[in-house]
Amino acid sequence: MSQKENTWIKSTCAYCGVGCGIEARANNRGTLEVRGDSQHPANFGKLCSKGLALGETVGIEGRLLKPQINQQDASWEEALADVAEQFNRVIEQHGKEAVAFYVSGQLLTEDYYVANKLMKGFIGSANIDTNSRLCMSSSVAGHKRAFGADIVPGCYEDLELADLIILTGSNLAWCHPILFQRIRDAKNTRKCKVIVIDPRRTPTCDIADMHLPLLPGSDVALFNGLLAFLSESNALDLDYIGASTEGLDLALATAFRFGDIESVQAVTGLDKTQILAFYQLFAASEKTVTVYSQGVNQSTSGTDKVNSILNYHLATGRVGKPGSTPFSVTGQPNAMGGREVGGLANMLAAHMDFDNPEHTQQISKFWQTDNLATAPGLKAIDMFNAIESGQIKAIWIIATNPAVSLPDSKRIETILANCPYVVVSDCMADTDTLRHANVALPAQGWSEKSGTVTNSERRISRQRRLLPSPGEAKPDWWIISEVAKKMGFGYAFDYQNEADIFREYTQMTTLGQKEVTDSVSRHGVCALSRPLNLSGLTELTAKQYHQMPPQQWPVTTYNQPTTRLFGNGEFATPSGKAQFIATGYRPIAETTTPKYPLLLNSGRIRDHWHTMTRSGLSPRLSEHISEPYLALSAQDAERYSINPNTLVKVTSRKGEVLLRARLSRECQSGQVFAPFHWSNCTTSMGKVDTLIAGHRDPLSGQPEFKATAVSIEPLPYQ
Ligand code: SF4
Repeated sequence: MSQKENTWIKSTCAYCGVGCGIEARANNRGTLEVRGDSQHPANFGKLCSKGLALGETVGIEGRLLKPQINQQDASWEEALADVAEQFNRVIEQHGKEAVAFYVSGQLLTEDYYVANKLMKGFIGSANIDTNSRLCMSSSVAGHKRAFGADIVPGCYEDLELADLIILTGSNLAWCHPILFQRIRDAKNTRKCKVIVIDPRRTPTCDIADMHLPLLPGSDVALFNGLLAFLSESNALDLDYIGASTEGLDLALATAFRFGDIESVQAVTGLDKTQILAFYQLFAASEKTVTVYSQGVNQSTSGTDKVNSILNYHLATGRVGKPGSTPFSVTGQPNAMGGREVGGLANMLAAHMDFDNPEHTQQISKFWQTDNLATAPGLKAIDMFNAIESGQIKAIWIIATNPAVSLPDSKRIETILANCPYVVVSDCMADTDTLRHANVALPAQGWSEKSGTVTNSERRISRQRRLLPSPGEAKPDWWIISEVAKKMGFGYAFDYQNEADIFREYTQMTTLGQKEVTDSVSRHGVCALSRPLNLSGLTELTAKQYHQMPPQQWPVTTYNQPTTRLFGNGEFATPSGKAQFIATGYRPIAETTTPKYPLLLNSGRIRDHWHTMTRSGLSPRLSEHISEPYLALSAQDAERYSINPNTLVKVTSRKGEVLLRARLSRECQSGQVFAPFHWSNCTTSMGKVDTLIAGHRDPLSGQPEFKATAVSIEPLPYQ
């Protein structure tokens, strides 16, 4: 065994937004041994089932090894020239709004930065959006409304300091397992209380002191009721509200309009005793963390749900303090990094805004471009609608599989099939999306690429190269830069390596920043106009970049503990005060009818990830649940004559799929659940997202994946 094969290299897990540190070493079979990094502050050596199986998912099996044009092998030179020529041709003939990029929270920050720079800075359109739109864009919109910037103020340590942890719309036990373990351990040692708010009785309820199975979409009513209760109980932090917030009166008036217990009871379906027990426990607790994810975000009222959570935290001063914070946890390994560098169509890089002339001037000067996009671009669903209508004629899809993961996915396939020009960069050779590509570009995958990711607590970690790339696979940043050069923007994309890009991005975060004063650092809190500040990383040497340890932003000094955001009660709004937002309850978009009498909730399972292009390679992970299923209650099984383990046809207003019936005590009667992971490449039973309509939040554009009206019937002749 060579010395290299013996060396353990630190990197970061490929999967969820917890961002666990791993150590890996190559073995003589060309695969990897993987273990948890005991020094990484996210996981201290622990890994969940997915992280532990990472070594089984590397290698050449199923990989895209060469560029292809119209399914024929091509050289890199030919493929890159084709993409550049076709994009330039479409722009010349139809304008810059006729092209688009659809990217991914799987990308590294450096890849994301370069894609955003090309589209917004040089093509001059903001038609770049990301699959993170489906994951946490409601949290982004909620943070911006309340805090003035997209800031997650908490850190994982807060979970160990809290007296009360509220987990709402978040099956942490399966979707963020290491955070779940941290909470379980904290509960064992500190006896903190845990409340789970979720229509389903998920495995996360195993550690719950209280489970509130509210009706789908009724969160805002529950949290407005809490705000009204706190006011009536004199449990508001009036000093904090006076010094650090604005807008409570209107938010309270809205909360009071339907905030009495009877109204909350009617909307949420919870009983009065449960509701009061929750409200009283909250009022009696001092340190509180509310963790939330897709159950809150993936909703037509997702942004209001987020703000109703931020409202009760602000009203009690439980923001920016040890053990007290609202905490949006991200689904993907680099959803946060994408938000930082402008991967969303409505944001510029480094948390700068289209409607701020200082920001647009600073970016134009920094990038040396006179063609910066001037207005937000199309969000994910609108982007694909624009392809359907003929407005967009060329799309480049990078590291994501929208033909499986977007709502109404059968229609998405038709849209891609009819789009005049589709480029797909992927590391895998066969995905539902890749089947529609005019040009396929082989990208490096996890373990081959090198760069940075940012996890849910704003901690930047290195992903390092652990294995050689198979075939002709290249880094995404290189592919995008080469196309940019061939489109005529060479001077701005002449990067030698990923460290060059990271340094440029960190310099961008310092544009127009106020200086950090002594008083700020003395108090250990941050009062920057834009807290996303990486000034401590702008002069990194290549060696420092290579060796960079995990660091939480803001980073004003290399490898030093960061400051606690909002700890001094100052926010990134123009007034410096956090904003209460009046959040009126709105019901879910779809209603059940005699034809579609059940509500379908869709989501993840413990051992698979997204569309399974990586996790599907591990036999161990596939053992947990091996085929698509529909979880339903025993009452509904009896009502609709469904026998356990038989095939059931599930039909919505958009389509139908076959799923294996699983009787489950997780689901209330009238509600069913199905995971979305399987694709045309992995099953002939149909894709669950075929059923989802694509109704979306008016502010964030995030689709509602948690409440689709469906009917079920047994499949005859089984
Ligand atoms: Fe990877 Fe998430 Fe599991 Fe950690 S919790 S090992 S980041 S999948």
